[in-house]
Amino acid sequence: MELEYYLCIKYERSMSMTEFWQKEIETMPRAELEKFQLIRLKETIKQAMKSPYYGKLYKEKGIDPDSLADINDIRKLPFTEKQDLRNEYPFGFLSVPQQQIIRLHSTSGTTGNPIVVFHTKHDLDSWANLMARSLFSAGARDTDVFQNICGYGLFTGGLGLQYGIERLGALSIPAGAGNTTRQVKLMKDFGTTAVHAIPSYLSRLYEGIIAEGIDPKKDLKLRFAAIGAEPHTEEQRARIEELFGIKAYNSYGLTEMNGPGVAFECTEQTGMHIWEDCYVAEIIDPMTLEPVPDGQEGELVLTTLDRHAVPIIRYRTRDITCFIEAPCKCGRTHKKIARITGRSDDMFIIRGCNVYPMQIEAILMKMPQLASNYLITLDTNENNDFIQVEAEIKSDTFTGDIEALDKLSKFVTREIADEILVTPIVKLVGQGTLPQSEGKAVRVKDLRTICKNESYK
Ligand code: AMP
Ligand code: ZN
Repeated sequence: MELEYYLCIKYERSMSMTEFWQKEIETMPRAELEKFQLIRLKETIKQAMKSPYYGKLYKEKGIDPDSLADINDIRKLPFTEKQDLRNEYPFGFLSVPQQQIIRLHSTSGTTGNPIVVFHTKHDLDSWANLMARSLFSAGARDTDVFQNICGYGLFTGGLGLQYGIERLGALSIPAGAGNTTRQVKLMKDFGTTAVHAIPSYLSRLYEGIIAEGIDPKKDLKLRFAAIGAEPHTEEQRARIEELFGIKAYNSYGLTEMNGPGVAFECTEQTGMHIWEDCYVAEIIDPMTLEPVPDGQEGELVLTTLDRHAVPIIRYRTRDITCFIEAPCKCGRTHKKIARITGRSDDMFIIRGCNVYPMQIEAILMKMPQLASNYLITLDTNENNDFIQVEAEIKSDTFTGDIEALDKLSKFVTREIADEILVTPIVKLVGQGTLPQSEGKAVRVKDLRTICKNESYK
């Protein structure tokens, strides 16, 4: 089939296809897919150069998009870092007139400026299509009753899924996050067959279901879950599947690249297909910044290929994964990545919220009563992940007044909860009682059994 033909296929589902959402795109021979990517990459660079950031940078570096001969030439372009997005807050990456943007999303988990991504109508349309394609590839259908158990604010897991579910044609229940009793009632009353949630919440939901005297396998119609937004293990997936008697599919995305819909497991459950008509994926060694051979772990680097408002080129996601070499039995030709095993920076994710230890440190250091040593522990208790922050109180400020101590501890708890969106257990301890590390301080201990986050060794 001609490339022009592919270029004409926009956000429509191919008609009469039962196994694919867009068969021509999803099964495109790799050589053609790469040619297609190159065309889109050149367009993306031209579009990005309309933004103040890329306009200046690429001019300075003398980058000419038309000089790229094949998709591997992407390696000649500079990386984009999280910090670049923060520095350019709010509009430095915007490549269209403001009048054309119709929504923004933003990430949690930063000190200082958040990362903000704007979308045009085209961008949202393309995202909804990718989301529908993802869900379809995992077996969701328009006959599903789809409850989206995710926050509907700036977090992309709410609205991102919502428009995908609607594009798929399933009945959407925009339940939002939390309130387990209401979630269970909705599931029962409307015969929910599919859910989207962060994996750590599903354990809590299970407890809620059991507490209502409901047998999830017999009394509910649930058959499908999309789980993502935080790291989880194969064992965690197996547990969710066993508890609910369902199939659970891994969903990967990040706000900078839209959100969910970047990579998704097909029914084979052997890795997540990255939608390469809309993204270029590279995996690099985070130390040398050189590409690693297929099958070897490294840091995922992504480039948007179909975004107008905020095109992002060679973005260092900091997520650690590897490409899965073997062609997928499902027939899709788009590369697969393995589940995310960690990060190449110190960010951790707890209950779906991204947290940098620096955010907590910044709060503790603002308190004149506290000394500088602290320890963050992530752990699991009865299926729930929790975060504990121990901080040393200066000997000369502790007068033995327990009430004052309690007040301070509550204040610190509130301040941290406001900042990271998860309520920590705060323990104020005597000065000199926390372990002193020699060399680089170990500030985070991850003892979780559920959503463990290994940092890159
Ligand atoms: P946010 O932009 O706030 O949605 O956070 C995106 C980050 O969440 C990614 O960079 C990953 O670190 C993490 N993440 C998202 N989906 C997954 C997943 N399926 N498995 C592991 N980590 C994930
Ligand atoms: Zn597949």
